[in-house]
Amino acid sequence: MTVPPVGPPVDLRSDTVTRPDARMRAAMARAEVGDDVLDGDPTMRALEAKVSGLLGTEDALWVPSGSMGNLIALCVHLERGDRFLAPDRAHILDLEAGTAAWLAGGMPRALPWTTGPGVPALSDISRAVAPGGPYFALRDRLLCLENTHGAAGGTVTTASQHRRLVAAAHDSGLLVHLDGARLWNAASALGVAPAVLAEGADTVQVCLSKGLGAPVGSVLAGSAEFVRQARRVRKMLGGGVRQGGVLAAAGLVALERQDRLAVDHEHALLLAAGLADRGWKTAPPQTNIVAVPVDDPAGTVARLRQVGILTLPTDTGVRMITHCDVSRHDIIRTINTFPPPA
Ligand SMILES: *Cc1c(COP(=O)(O)O)cnc(C)c1O
Repeated sequence: MTVPPVGPPVDLRSDTVTRPDARMRAAMARAEVGDDVLDGDPTMRALEAKVSGLLGTEDALWVPSGSMGNLIALCVHLERGDRFLAPDRAHILDLEAGTAAWLAGGMPRALPWTTGPGVPALSDISRAVAPGGPYFALRDRLLCLENTHGAAGGTVTTASQHRRLVAAAHDSGLLVHLDGARLWNAASALGVAPAVLAEGADTVQVCLSKGLGAPVGSVLAGSAEFVRQARRVRKMLGGGVRQGGVLAAAGLVALERQDRLAVDHEHALLLAAGLADRGWKTAPPQTNIVAVPVDDPAGTVARLRQVGILTLPTDTGVRMITHCDVSRHDIIRTINTFPPPA
């Protein structure tokens, strides 16, 4: 049975589809600006200071996207041919068009999710970096963590797991980059400050344009010396912007919205529970990503689209992400219009 769409589509494809609301647009309109490439933009600086404060790093740099933030970190940390480790199916491995290799010259190594979904084992880190190989052995330089881990279903690495992973990496002589595109979600789910989940990492990338709802922007944080080098690489990649304060102003408003991520997580739980009640094998989500295993992902996504529910297919099912432009009513409508299991 197909139910005709009621009202505009419910867009659950990603937490990047959010649109800046009137308050965010007003902040952008009145932003104080300068030339951030020439000698600095005050609103950019305020955003960077705010984020380095939230993450407990010395300094930070606005970047146009999370992908560019991750790439800049790799470019600074790696020499061409160096290897980096990352949990299997990390964004930096699978979803950044191969820039880790193409531009940063990195050799990737995927680590299995032995400790939990998206979380590698400490022993896999030390084993991957066995010292004393021949002079032509790969040189391991970096561990890239991802919290939350997107492909694992928005799963959280806890503070103690994070601390142990960082210590294991440092003990093995590796630097640590944290891809924290959704670190705000992890912090909200665990009830800890973002800095607790960034502790010890040499560099951290956080997105403003996902759950927090800014139209554009990420921040790359680390030591003052790292940020000095990162600023140069950002310019090399074409990521220096002039009156960026207009964009940073949206980021500053976005950062005030960390508390409401708990609502997205509640909505995701409600959605998963509702679909489980209707017979789907949906596990309770840890944050804002709901995965529904289905036999025909593409067909199911197409059928949902016809009834006004926008989702994305994965290898094994349908993925839905809650965000600030999705209401409780939208969630209930999604549960009620989801086709029954075959
Ligand atoms: C979205 C995402 C990125 C990339 O961010 P963009 O702004 O889309 O380039 C990187 N890592 C993770 C884990 C992400 O979810």
